[in-house]
Amino acid sequence: MERTLISETPQRIGETVRINGWARRVRDHGSVQFIDMRDRSGMVQCVIVKPKKKISEESVLQITGVVKERDEKNVNPDLATGTIEIEVSDMEVLNPSAELPIPVQGSGFDLSEEVRIRYRYLDLRRDRMQEIMTMRSKLVQAIREVLFSHDFREIETPLLTKGTMEGARNFIVPSRLNPGKFYALPQSPQQYKQLLMTAGVERYFQIAKCVRDEDLRADRGFEFTQLDLELSFTTEEEVFRVVQEAVVAGVTAAGGRVREGDFPVLSYAEVMEKFGSDKFDIRTDDEKKENILAFAWVNRYPKFKRVDRKEVADTLDSRSEWIFSHNPFSNPIPEHIPWLLAHEHIGEIIASQYDLVCNGYEVASGSIRAHRPEVLRATYEIMGYTDEEIEKNIGHMLEAFSLGTPPHGGCAPGIERLVMLIANVSSLKETVAFPMTSTGKTAVTDAPSPVPGEVLRTFGLKVVEEESNVVFERLKQLLSGKSLPFTILEHEPVKTSEEASKVRGTPMGMAPKAMVLKKKTGECVMAVVPADRKLDMKKLESVIGGSVKLASPEEVERDLQVKVGAVPPFGGLFGMETYVDERLKDLEEVVFNAGRRDRSIRMKAKDFIIAADPVQAEHPSDIAQ
Ligand code: ASP
Repeated sequence: MERTLISETPQRIGETVRINGWARRVRDHGSVQFIDMRDRSGMVQCVIVKPKKKISEESVLQITGVVKERDEKNVNPDLATGTIEIEVSDMEVLNPSAELPIPVQGSGFDLSEEVRIRYRYLDLRRDRMQEIMTMRSKLVQAIREVLFSHDFREIETPLLTKGTMEGARNFIVPSRLNPGKFYALPQSPQQYKQLLMTAGVERYFQIAKCVRDEDLRADRGFEFTQLDLELSFTTEEEVFRVVQEAVVAGVTAAGGRVREGDFPVLSYAEVMEKFGSDKFDIRTDDEKKENILAFAWVNRYPKFKRVDRKEVADTLDSRSEWIFSHNPFSNPIPEHIPWLLAHEHIGEIIASQYDLVCNGYEVASGSIRAHRPEVLRATYEIMGYTDEEIEKNIGHMLEAFSLGTPPHGGCAPGIERLVMLIANVSSLKETVAFPMTSTGKTAVTDAPSPVPGEVLRTFGLKVVEEESNVVFERLKQLLSGKSLPFTILEHEPVKTSEEASKVRGTPMGMAPKAMVLKKKTGECVMAVVPADRKLDMKKLESVIGGSVKLASPEEVERDLQVKVGAVPPFGGLFGMETYVDERLKDLEEVVFNAGRRDRSIRMKAKDFIIAADPVQAEHPSDIAQ
């Protein structure tokens, strides 16, 4: 029998149908069992008379049964299928579900970021997240349709490339074929899209992944997606028109509401005067209540700003006191080109550069580009680059610009930002299927993770940081990221827990001792017990559900890049599951090695467990003797 989608069942009254899906809710009333079945189209109530087996929630089922109209008094007006139910005649469990580590009902806002991201495939099952993923898909579909209707080509550009300057640090990828050399992941497809203009494409777009090594914030990771587009023989007005049409169509298709009319255009000087910021909100109070999206363009940005020494990217990208304000490729407004070429009035040069702002957020930026080699060259000269450095950095662009590059310009709206505004959520992570945690760990999997020495050698690489400060820094970041208070102790370098307790003047029992164990699969886990007790291997193995053996000191040092004796009791920092002995929960405070032999951290025991072993925090394991 063919599958029927749940949303179609109300049209099949009296018929026998087969549905596939998940048992979202199971209610046992002795002789009757109710199962709310969910598939991608909706939810329906199924009734089993004289149930034979227990069904666990979120098991995947195939149900066959007759669609019955409900009695008037049993109609559920909150459910699209609330007028009917399915009387089950046959049921097959396609995949039984074990007890869920996180609930998939409700908004999920009450759960910690860690568990939501670690079990993202469950987190995404909640209705709210399904809706957001659908919104995002509809947004992109409608944008594509508008751009295709204007004769754009969708073209992909490389991921392994040379760094583009977009104001952040580059992620680098070592090359095995060229040991000691690196690719950069694109901060945006900026250079390639411009080269597509040289290539005669005239109208390009891409739903492009961009990767920027920026300081992590609670609401975003290193990767994001933008609608990247570029046009030849264009004007600012034309870019505004096309982007407005695409954005309005996308937002509307995704269920959002946009303020009527053309997006107003304001100059940077005007908005700074009026709002004191270029990320302003033009909505009325009523529009705010109704979550209307009110867009505005800001144009005529200064081309250069003074280098901010606190910004690493500024310091890396500029050799002088000046740095481009957005990216180096924007053209000055025509009347300021002579200033640029003469290196005069640098701070006053206005660029043909614009941002799109919505409800207080920047949602896009772009510019009309410098397509003449001397203009791009002058930008780099003002940033203090020598001829040789210019050649090395953008020689390929200057060459292309001397081989028939049309005037061009473009823009790049951020997809996550738009979805965030439509869905009215406050974090970009809510709009990404598999976002990173605030400590930079990947969803579900546990990258970044250490690479064995042999692999590093094939790249001609060696990790040289001897007394790994990196781990110490990451640990501090992890604790601060969760706003958990801690104090750092500096002391003589120590190699064992005994030595550590002595120099710290704290009892052994107060120190969570970390041990690394290897599973049969080669995967490592961390067990943490009070330093005055021994790990009970039998108990640990029964908690883990498999056999493990203690990793050798060499293995620990190689895999974790941390000296034995300094390993902090946070397996998560190394992508390992952590099992904390429940006895640590009874302590007031704990003190432990912090990734360096000469540093310890002291903090509340209860905070420690939350940070070290969030999943186990509610179910601590008994793993010590
Ligand atoms: N590449 C720019 C960015 O990522 C956008 C653009 O100028 O088209 O912000």
